[in-house]
Amino acid sequence: MSDLETHQARLEGHLARFRDSGIVNLIDGQDVAGDAWFETRSPVDDSVIARVALGGAAEIDAAAKAAQAAFPAWAAMAGTARRAILHRIADAIEARADEIALCECWDTGQAWRFMSKAALRGAENFRFFADRAPGARDGQALPSGAHLNVTSRHPIGPVGVITPWNTPFMLSTWKIAPALAAGCTVVHKPAELSPLTARLLAEICRDAGLPPGVLNLVNGQGEGAGRALTEHPAIRAIAFVGESRTGSAIMRQGAETLKRVHFELGGKNPVIVFEDADLDRALDAVVFMIYSLNGERCTSSSRLLVQESIAPDFYGRLAERVARIRVGHPLDPGTEVGPLIDRGHFEKVASYVAAGQAEGAFLSVGGARLGDRGWFIAPTLFTGARPEMKIAQEEVFGPFLTCLTFKDEAEALEIANGVAYGLAGYVWTNDLSRALRVSDALEAGMIWVNSENVRHLPTPFGGVKASGIGRDGGDWSFDFYMETKNTAFALGSHTIPKLGA
Ligand code: NAD
Repeated sequence: MSDLETHQARLEGHLARFRDSGIVNLIDGQDVAGDAWFETRSPVDDSVIARVALGGAAEIDAAAKAAQAAFPAWAAMAGTARRAILHRIADAIEARADEIALCECWDTGQAWRFMSKAALRGAENFRFFADRAPGARDGQALPSGAHLNVTSRHPIGPVGVITPWNTPFMLSTWKIAPALAAGCTVVHKPAELSPLTARLLAEICRDAGLPPGVLNLVNGQGEGAGRALTEHPAIRAIAFVGESRTGSAIMRQGAETLKRVHFELGGKNPVIVFEDADLDRALDAVVFMIYSLNGERCTSSSRLLVQESIAPDFYGRLAERVARIRVGHPLDPGTEVGPLIDRGHFEKVASYVAAGQAEGAFLSVGGARLGDRGWFIAPTLFTGARPEMKIAQEEVFGPFLTCLTFKDEAEALEIANGVAYGLAGYVWTNDLSRALRVSDALEAGMIWVNSENVRHLPTPFGGVKASGIGRDGGDWSFDFYMETKNTAFALGSHTIPKLGA
């Protein structure tokens, strides 16, 4: 049997139970399904993977009330006890890593070579925040003359977590682990296009001993379950990952109940290659950062800015590499790019191919549909684009790279900052002063110099402008999931103003 066939055989074993009983919600520790269902399909061949319980306002209400009821005990539990439970969850994720990775590939179309590590990244998220749980409430002592001020942190309450369809397992753990470590309870509404691994995570947490009601799972549509979650009065905050315009809608929906929001939104991230850079390494990073994960990645470097003097040669070498990228079945270990998530998204990406050609950019590689089953598109490269074009301004979210040429540092910065987004930026130069100047001037929440995106969990993650509000990572996550309280203790000697004395 080939590697692809053994992966398929193992996947079949894992999917059988979902085919029989569907993917059901998990509310207050119980499996819950009503009469309404929707289907999740595989992007590989558009076949139905399983039916999914369609939650709406009633299920969200039950989940939010369960999270509210579970909150006091979970928040009061010693941080060391929460730490132990979160480590058990990480152990269980590792034990089921193969199942999680196979299901994620089949549900999202992401290639095995990347997804085989996704579960382990999820486990690492749990371990990282588990170890911080005992210190989550720590604050500062701020003495001021007659008073001793002491700050302390308190979990904000039940929170809603709304996640997108790209790399759903990793992103869900990235939100849920710090919320649980902080002492919050959670209602999770995963993306309707890739719900499989959210179900695995919820049952792993239950089986690892997370008390009922601490993590609740409600599947459903954005306008149904998603909206109801953002409007529910018992939910204190919403951690959302998804499109910028959905973020705006969530802000409006949550306004009535004064929701705190944390948004990780879209990007149109520049990678800037200066003539003095290590061009071999830059080329590797450019190709990796837009074509890995099918380009369905918020931090993908979807705009390549190359200095004029090196542009023809760099574009030539780039085109050769892009043309050689292996597109195929996501469960084949040789595959580098799999299918796009669904027909709607395929049509969106294809519409940008048409827009680029209509606006006069040069389609150097790809752009066409591959095969007639599933949503495969050839990795696409446009050169000769101008900054005002749609393909240089809007997020495509596919294996689609737009190349722009610049003369000098000032023009590079003008182009790089001339978009609505500001999530990440990548700078390639061997001139230290230039690296410092450019990274300082780039309007983005995260910059990598002479590197692809490499995450270090204690560092802040998030965007500026239309790319987000707030930061995750390290202690920044607790800033969102917790309230800071200040208590001032009088030392007893100061004069209190006397009224009516
Ligand atoms: P999306 O905004 O369409 O959906 C995300 C989630 O929001 C889904 O669960 C959906 O059901 C829900 N939703 C939709 N409408 C809603 C509403 N009115 N109220 C409440 N919930 C609602 O995004 P998507 O297409 O699933 O994901 C792709 C997007 O996510 C891209 O823009 C990408 O850049 C972004 N993303 C950002 C980051 C980051 O860290 N910045 C990470 C991953 C993905």
